[in-house]
Amino acid sequence: METNAPSVCPKCGSEIKHIPAGVSKTKVDKFGSPAKYNEFWACEAKCGYSWPEKRGVSAPKYDQDKLLEAIKIVNENVKIAVSLLKQLTGQ
Ligand SMILES: [Zn+2]
Repeated sequence: METNAPSVCPKCGSEIKHIPAGVSKTKVDKFGSPAKYNEFWACEAKCGYSWPEKRGVSAPKYDQDKLLEAIKIVNENVKIAVSLLKQLTGQ
């Protein structure tokens, strides 16, 4: 199979080992069955390098509703603060 995988680990210079696609012994998918993974290449010295290199961790997911709720609360408090200031300054 053609691949761009490096033949030696760019991190530590050890051999790169091909790991065929398979089924995880430890991870399960959302249905509770063993999670499948694609083939990959990993450093034999287990320095942590693997190919394809992991892409950036996906952005954390925000709870949109909670975020909006928080903005609302901030807005309310700003309004209160503004009206207090107006009272204090006699405007
Ligand atoms: Zn390595």
